[in-house]
Amino acid sequence: MELQATCDGLVLCEFCGVNSESAKDESSVLRVVLVGPPASGKGSQAKVLADELGLFHLSTGSAIRDHMARGTELGERCREYMSQARLVPDEVAMEVVDDEVGEHGGGGFVLDGFPRTLHQAELLDQWMRERGQELDAVIVLDVMQADLEARVARRVLCGGCGQPLRLGGRVNSMNDACPDCGGELVRRTDDDVNVFRGRFQEYLDMTVPVIDHYAEIGKLRRVDGSRLPDDVSRSILDLLKPDTQEK
Ligand SMILES: [Zn+2]
Repeated sequence: MELQATCDGLVLCEFCGVNSESAKDESSVLRVVLVGPPASGKGSQAKVLADELGLFHLSTGSAIRDHMARGTELGERCREYMSQARLVPDEVAMEVVDDEVGEHGGGGFVLDGFPRTLHQAELLDQWMRERGQELDAVIVLDVMQADLEARVARRVLCGGCGQPLRLGGRVNSMNDACPDCGGELVRRTDDDVNVFRGRFQEYLDMTVPVIDHYAEIGKLRRVDGSRLPDDVSRSILDLLKPDTQEK
């Protein structure tokens, strides 16, 4: 879809009518990709970044789930792949990005979960070229595998109220009860160390080539993701903000 420029230079979304004021000055629009291994905190960092800088946050995973829940044609196609335990093809993932970012990303965006493969990165680069745009930065959260495994091992959920908890935080062992509702603690299958290792290997095989690609073209920025979430957020914002202020 197209953004329509109004006579006073504001850019109006044709569908939702939202003003993307920042879109009037193309040079101030930030387009960022956040990359990181599973359990690196990439999703929460993307959210902070979007809130702080007024960017549209697209998590392709949630966008796909949302399309499936709404029963859109795109969602139905994704459901077919997923019901056969197949990955959504790169082209289809790109369609999701095109749809969502095309509609809401006029004032800048942060992508989380895309591109996951080198081919997806090439599709994204081409899509942006066609629109006369380019990414400002691809930020990778560096966390050692051992640190990630330790994080995963500490993650538990309350089986009663469903809240995420951390061993060594408000609870100390699986035998403790939820401090809020007294419910029993459970683990998500995702938080099994073997499931994690499979996903980490997938990251090394499929996503590290994406990182190499953006390093080659000078777009890559590395952030130490092993620190406290607030410190990680600050580093990411420091990387991006001087840029926006200069322009
Ligand atoms: Zn609970």
